[in-house]
Amino acid sequence: MPSYVIPDKCDGCKALDKTACQFICPNDLMVLNKDSMKAFNREPEMCWECYNCVKICPNQAVEVRGYADFVPLGATVTPMRSTDSIMWTVKFRNGTLKRFKFPIRTTEEGKAVPDGGWSTGSDDLKSPVLFSEPQSLGLPEVVTIKN
Ligand code: SF4
Ligand code: SF4
Repeated sequence: MPSYVIPDKCDGCKALDKTACQFICPNDLMVLNKDSMKAFNREPEMCWECYNCVKICPNQAVEVRGYADFVPLGATVTPMRSTDSIMWTVKFRNGTLKRFKFPIRTTEEGKAVPDGGWSTGSDDLKSPVLFSEPQSLGLPEVVTIKN
């Protein structure tokens, strides 16, 4: 089931230029109604149920009803992020709560090195050769078609 925003919990990200759910959705589905200052999913049938908007919302205002093997029928699942872990709360139809906490990173926040220490240049990006080639192929060089 696609994501949906619980209006009472959504504060429109306090009128920032772009809301957190708009920023994170890989399918550009979330929009903000500037009159009500509430976000909504404008194309529910296009939702990948990726949970990105659910996890990033600072107010836990977005819900996705997961598949039955993950979230039993009628239950809801709500994530709460911290800097190094995420707590999932599953609320069952009968009111029972279960919580699962998982680590989400091994590198301290803000310390990630985007290129992993393997610096690349614009020539590398244009090359058809993979980073580990030709060594990983056991060849002295990779033959490519010259334009
Ligand atoms: S991230 Fe949450 S609070 Fe912000 S606009 Fe989206 S649903 Fe509303
Ligand atoms: S669950 Fe994923 S695809 Fe669906 S609205 Fe949220 S961020 Fe977009």
